[in-house]
Amino acid sequence: MAAGETRPTHAAPSTMPYISVDALVGDGPVAPPQTLAGGGRVSENARDWGASPANVDEDPKRVAWRANYTAELARVLNTPANDYHDSAARLSGLVKSALLEFRHLKTEPSKFFEAHRLLVNHGFEQGPGFSIRFTVQYNLFAGTVLELGGSEHLRTLDEMQRDGELGCFALTEKLAGVNSGLVVQTTARWVPDKGAFLLHTPHDGACKNWISQGLTACKAVVMADLIVGSESKGPHAFLVELRAKGSGPGYPGRVSTGVTLGDMGAKTTGNDLDNAWISFENKWIPRESLLDRYCDLTVDGGYVARGGTSAPMSNMELIGQRLFTGRVAVAQGAHEFRRRLFRRTRAHNDAKPCWAPGGGSHSAKKTLMLSSVPQLRALYRDADAKEARMTAYLASVERDLCETLTNGTRPSAEMVEAVAAAKVSAVDEAIEYCHRLKQEVGSYALMAGTGFEHTDFLQCCKFAEGDSRILLMKVARDRVKAYGRIAAKGGEVPAWMSPREAKAVAELAKALQASAAGGKRPAEAWEEHWDKAYATARLAVDNIVTRRVGGPDKWSNAGWRSTPASRL
Ligand SMILES: Cc1cc2nc3c(=O)[nH]c(=O)nc-3n(C[C@H](O)[C@H](O)[C@H](O)COP(=O)(O)OP(=O)(O)OC[C@H]3O[C@@H](n4cnc5c(N)ncnc54)[C@H](O)[C@@H]3O)c2cc1C
Repeated sequence: MAAGETRPTHAAPSTMPYISVDALVGDGPVAPPQTLAGGGRVSENARDWGASPANVDEDPKRVAWRANYTAELARVLNTPANDYHDSAARLSGLVKSALLEFRHLKTEPSKFFEAHRLLVNHGFEQGPGFSIRFTVQYNLFAGTVLELGGSEHLRTLDEMQRDGELGCFALTEKLAGVNSGLVVQTTARWVPDKGAFLLHTPHDGACKNWISQGLTACKAVVMADLIVGSESKGPHAFLVELRAKGSGPGYPGRVSTGVTLGDMGAKTTGNDLDNAWISFENKWIPRESLLDRYCDLTVDGGYVARGGTSAPMSNMELIGQRLFTGRVAVAQGAHEFRRRLFRRTRAHNDAKPCWAPGGGSHSAKKTLMLSSVPQLRALYRDADAKEARMTAYLASVERDLCETLTNGTRPSAEMVEAVAAAKVSAVDEAIEYCHRLKQEVGSYALMAGTGFEHTDFLQCCKFAEGDSRILLMKVARDRVKAYGRIAAKGGEVPAWMSPREAKAVAELAKALQASAAGGKRPAEAWEEHWDKAYATARLAVDNIVTRRVGGPDKWSNAGWRSTPASRL
């Protein structure tokens, strides 16, 4: 390099200029398969390129799909998006390619999960914006239309896939936050004379908030309280036009009458994703806007629940189905992020020599590699074992959830808990291990392009698709209820509770009873013992994971990556 020249910046800069992390990370789906360089599609040997879980059956069609999808991702995410319009246009292209169809959410949900994992890996350096955009488009928007829509809505969805048109999902409101769904103040009032609904945001606190893709989508699934006469029928889903089609994908046109859109502003990460607040000012929407597979309104304003006893779940429960899928996707997203951060950082540490007592200069044989220092070696060993356990657990939950989704059945209580445990434990573990890693790798963790700058993605995962604290509180309440039933019958603690869990549940139940005896209302008693409740729920969650894949002791054998780098 000539004097005065600066080195070019790299996608993944190294604190040691002679270490190219990109070259060292050999095990991620970074590059497209060579056979696809010319743009064609392949039909074999794709297995090694994707992050496929052990439970996906490897029929040749699936292998070929993985190769083609991976190649498409490599093309779409080849360079960082310039802005959120560009990012939206790229998703539009991916949708249009139909490599993953919206209907796969119901017919082949495992494809959606794998597509998402692959995407998290590919987009790692660019941050989480695109993967959030993807899950909102496929799972929350299209998945809800598929689940709740009638034949006309499904036709609209087909057209959107053909045209690469984008949608968003508007549930959260300013004053509802993580309790969205329980609190929906946006109203859709049925006006029989007009044969239409009046969609309205009654006050500022009822504005839809944080809506991903809200500034680039033409359509939205809007959750609003359906009012018929003077009666609230609860939250219902409406397919609403937010904007006209614009000049091209990612650049929608004129905002519809009665809709106001605003930008949530800059975030700490994921700024290639647009997040909007949305308000409706007495916006007329046609009768056909109501997603009407399970309910409808007669012309004279009667509310009809459709499907009779064959209607498998309530409207809100069916929407909740999307959140189950979303929870597993969020858990897998956090897990993949952690895996990739560890892999990349390890590659750097394996190649970075550092001085050690008895060692010499960097070229001396006794020089240690950074990953061999005892605290990092111990961390990698521990992290490997925990990562392997979580991988097995998530694969197991995904498999069971896919079965439930394809059968269209109501998830069992066990399934609901297993999904909650996946979300809480995968995200918490990812946060814990990424934080611990950051404390041990020096200046490397400060460099843009290493992935550490995107760890706020994991914060997002904590409250997305069901806040982890709310999920934990539900587990605690269910345990106390179960304990009460058992105690009332004088029965034994069930075998599925670990002794520690059973002890914690019994103590929590007794503490709540003592508070009740002292005149506290149930809500006050739970508030008083909030810390016991969360501690109990965490034990229960870990026990749920253990019941499926074994405890941490079963996974204590570290994999190859825990071998000291100096002996690799
Ligand atoms: C990047 C991004 C994309 C998003 N995309 C969408 C989207 O497309 N569509 C959509 O509808 N929403 C979306 N959201 C909203 C998201 O799903 C959350 O609901 C929302 O961000 C959380 O709201 P809040 O920050 O107001 O949380 P708050 O409600 O203010 O809660 C803050 C914290 O307080 C605690 N807390 C609150 N209430 C309770 C309680 N009752 N019990 C115990 N603990 C409690 C929880 O730990 C919670 O994390 C998105 C959010 C972000 C950041």
